[in-house]
Amino acid sequence: MTTQEDACDVLVVGGGMAGLVAALQAQALGARVNVLEKGPAVGGSLALSGGTIWCARTVEDLRRLVPRGDPELGAALVADFEPGIAWLRGLGATLTPLPSEPHRSVYWTEPNPRVFVATLLARFASGGGRVITEASVSSLRFDAAGAIAGVVARTPNGLRSFTAPAVILATGGFQGNPAMRAQYFGPWADRLITRGNPHSTGDGFWMATNAGAAPSKAMSSFYGHLLPAPPARVPVNDFIGFTMYHSEQSVLLNLRGERFTDESLGDETSSQAVARQPEALAWLIYDDVVYRAFARRPGGGGARATDTFYESKALGAPAAVASSIEELAAAVDALGGHGPGTLTTLRDYNTAVVAGAAAQLRIPRRAKANPVTTPPFYALAVTPGITFTLGGIRIDPDARVLDRAGRPIPGLYAAGADAGGIHNEQYAGGLCLGLVFGRRAARGAASQTKPVNQ
Ligand SMILES: Cc1cc2nc3c(=O)[nH]c(=O)nc-3n(C[C@H](O)[C@H](O)[C@H](O)COP(=O)(O)OP(=O)(O)OC[C@H]3O[C@@H](n4cnc5c(N)ncnc54)[C@H](O)[C@@H]3O)c2cc1C
Repeated sequence: MTTQEDACDVLVVGGGMAGLVAALQAQALGARVNVLEKGPAVGGSLALSGGTIWCARTVEDLRRLVPRGDPELGAALVADFEPGIAWLRGLGATLTPLPSEPHRSVYWTEPNPRVFVATLLARFASGGGRVITEASVSSLRFDAAGAIAGVVARTPNGLRSFTAPAVILATGGFQGNPAMRAQYFGPWADRLITRGNPHSTGDGFWMATNAGAAPSKAMSSFYGHLLPAPPARVPVNDFIGFTMYHSEQSVLLNLRGERFTDESLGDETSSQAVARQPEALAWLIYDDVVYRAFARRPGGGGARATDTFYESKALGAPAAVASSIEELAAAVDALGGHGPGTLTTLRDYNTAVVAGAAAQLRIPRRAKANPVTTPPFYALAVTPGITFTLGGIRIDPDARVLDRAGRPIPGLYAAGADAGGIHNEQYAGGLCLGLVFGRRAARGAASQTKPVNQ
């Protein structure tokens, strides 16, 4: 039963990157916009993020970074990225270009993403936009012709019905839903840590697919990073400080003491590989050279200085330091890994690295093949933290939600992590997806009610 009815031109479901962008763009096009946000405040994972909005410079660069992403959606992403940055600046956001990189264009939301959120929110409010927090949208409403008519949201005062001819789903993916993670990523994936806003539990995906929307490609892949394993619990506002970016310089062993991935492919790729290992756990192993150069980080660009090893150990993650690899393997054994396997694998790995043959190992190590030879030696138990899901609702380049026959569902749009398949297996920016497809969704949604003239 609904208790109250609210009407507007465009309903935006979720107030993170995609939602705020979509709301502002629809408002700029003359639409009356309501944003419905499940949490107590807007911001979502955007507010927890590193705040670097980045994108591949060209379609070819994007294809290199994400070879299995959807080419049509990828082309739209690249085409609208720089105009999106200019548009955000026009709204008053401070976006500082970071030192140039050949294949990526990178901007930092200075001084931090929280201020960026506040800037967007103030702009939206000054234009007459409404934000309703603690409104968890739970179902879509359709008219007799099958077009969107609004949504129903759970609020502290009961169910509340909202009416609009266009709805933009921007609930941020399903990383906060352990059952869905197990369904799509495999048996251990319910144990992963949610490395982002906990409210993104797949609501947009379920509502859309229940209404006939098709799932995208990339349903089995996610973007995440390795974090210290339980019983450590990383504070929700400090994920970056505890992220094991240096796993690409290290060796990862599963609980059987085996390597299972080319660690040099990067921490994002390794975190997906760890998710498929027993108990979704791995030992991150390196020597003192790697510890000094990479496991401790000086901070800067909005990130704090951190010692990922000792701070993780202090949080309770299983960890060992030893003066020989034999001693390290014994310590891993005592902590629940397979010490004999660990020792054999480390010896074989070191032998191959020293001989310049790491790429010929059974699990090849094609780059950054650092030997584990300079004491002390470090082992830290790690598990994947999932930041956002790469699969989701299938959309077209105008962010229209498509049904299983590939036809748009009238009035329904999806953007940000809710819209899947743009990236697949690899990652090439999260905030850029919300920026580009949030604006595209808003253009379509605003045109449902009036001619687009801006
Ligand atoms: C630690 C960390 C670092 C990151 N660093 C970067 C970075 O530097 N660069 C980068 O590009 N990306 C980064 N990301 C990823 C980026 O933050 C996300 O990709 C991006 O925020 C996704 O945008 P979104 O709008 O889809 O989801 P979000 O920004 O998470 O917003 C989704 C919103 O929907 C709300 N919601 C969920 N369900 C409902 C419902 N049923 N009803 C109403 N509201 C709902 C949520 O509460 C949330 O507010 C980082 C993320 C994290 C966590």
